[in-house]
Amino acid sequence: MAETKPKQQVKKKIPERRCVGCQGTFPKKELLRVVRSPEGMISIDFTGKKSGRGAYVCQNEACFRKAKKSGILHRTLECEISEEIYAELEKEIRISEEKNS
Ligand SMILES: [Zn+2]
Repeated sequence: MAETKPKQQVKKKIPERRCVGCQGTFPKKELLRVVRSPEGMISIDFTGKKSGRGAYVCQNEACFRKAKKSGILHRTLECEISEEIYAELEKEIRISEEKNS
């Protein structure tokens, strides 16, 4: 039905980020952000406002596992990612998957 849309540009810009797992780009809000603070602390940023270098991953287990296995989070953030951070991420993903199902 909405396939032949006239050239109506939506002015609202949705910020998109790339998931380190599947390499797809998604609205920032749909992704989990892992951030390395200027002090070198890794944490999960739920607000999207923490300063520092960030990496994004989809809120699904497949992407998380891929990201963990490939070590891309630690490459992207140039910092060791502790098991606790992975565990925390996994927990968050589980919660959001349950919410969405
Ligand atoms: Zn993904």
